[in-house]
Amino acid sequence: MEKKIWLSPPHMGGTEMMYIQQAFDTNWIAPVGANVSAFEKQIEDFIGCGHVAALSSGTAALHLALVLLGVGKGDIVICQSFTFAASANPIAYQSGIPVFVDSEPETWNICPDTLERAIKHCINKGKKPKAIIIVHLYGMPARMDEVLTLCNHYDIPLIEDAAEALGSEFNDRKAGSFGTFGIFSFNGNKIISTSGGGALWSADPALIKKAKFLASQARDPALHYEHSVTGYNYSLSNVCAGIGRGQMEVLRNRVAQRRANNAFYQKALEKLPGINFQKEPAECFSNRWLTALTLDFQQSEISPKKLIAELESENIESRHLWKPMHLQPVFKDAPYFGGNIAGELFHSGICLPSGSGLKADDLQRVTSAITKLFA
Ligand SMILES: *Cc1c(COP(=O)(O)O)cnc(C)c1O
Repeated sequence: MEKKIWLSPPHMGGTEMMYIQQAFDTNWIAPVGANVSAFEKQIEDFIGCGHVAALSSGTAALHLALVLLGVGKGDIVICQSFTFAASANPIAYQSGIPVFVDSEPETWNICPDTLERAIKHCINKGKKPKAIIIVHLYGMPARMDEVLTLCNHYDIPLIEDAAEALGSEFNDRKAGSFGTFGIFSFNGNKIISTSGGGALWSADPALIKKAKFLASQARDPALHYEHSVTGYNYSLSNVCAGIGRGQMEVLRNRVAQRRANNAFYQKALEKLPGINFQKEPAECFSNRWLTALTLDFQQSEISPKKLIAELESENIESRHLWKPMHLQPVFKDAPYFGGNIAGELFHSGICLPSGSGLKADDLQRVTSAITKLFA
């Protein structure tokens, strides 16, 4: 059996152990320390504006964003349906009501027309949404011009779930820096990894200060332990932040490598019948976290299930596109606006191995296996 090709494994740059060693040498084996501060500064510099809190996960960052926007019991939060469950779970943590919205066919992200329909419906029912969560899926920026116009017009705060989109850009501005909040993830399979971790971004320094306060148990200024609001234990470990420092040093390179994978796949596979890759509109620059494509069963009679099984038999990991939230049993009671674009994408699409460490012969193995199946 040839060696396993994983979907998106961690890819260390080389200096991570040095920063971890510094944490040990100084005995800052804690949720604060020099690595945490330096990692936050690196992300701020990379984004080019605003302020950052390093946190224990992207999910924690989303949760704090909702807490800081005052989302509570019965409040409506509009959320892109085509995403990973972590985009929507924090709405449930706050006992809010998620309202899911379909995608548009080009970027696969939230459809602005359907979003406006959902906003108007909620407002007409006397329940103005407290926040809108949009996602830059697989690294592809959403339709930000239209989304921002709607958020401004209806005066609703925007949360950008950029967990998959660190390094992506829309009109030369970094994904995650358009809304009231942006969130990033450094989980094991993301474009950079701290083994587990996340970050919350905001242009407003007061919001990030508050986020850090809430993330470290909300301890009021007093000599004893005094608490006037509910706190969380969401800070990033100073050891993990050491991994993050090393990873930030190679982030630009990782984006280039993933984009090169995507270009290779498109060139090698575009002529096969019924294969369509996720598009990159002119104003978008995707980090191409995962290369994603759809299969037209009418043209090729090859289903995602069949292709995934075929690749698995050659020890190559691939996977289905995300199953939309409005089709998930856990959200079966949540309102949904849209048609079946996200549903169709789920039924027809797959993600190919996209790690930044893939070698030319790994990529060749993947495309050969696919071409063979189509022959
Ligand atoms: C990974 C991911 C998250 C959650 O990030 P964690 O760091 O794993 O908590 C949220 N949203 C999307 C779209 C993701 O892909």
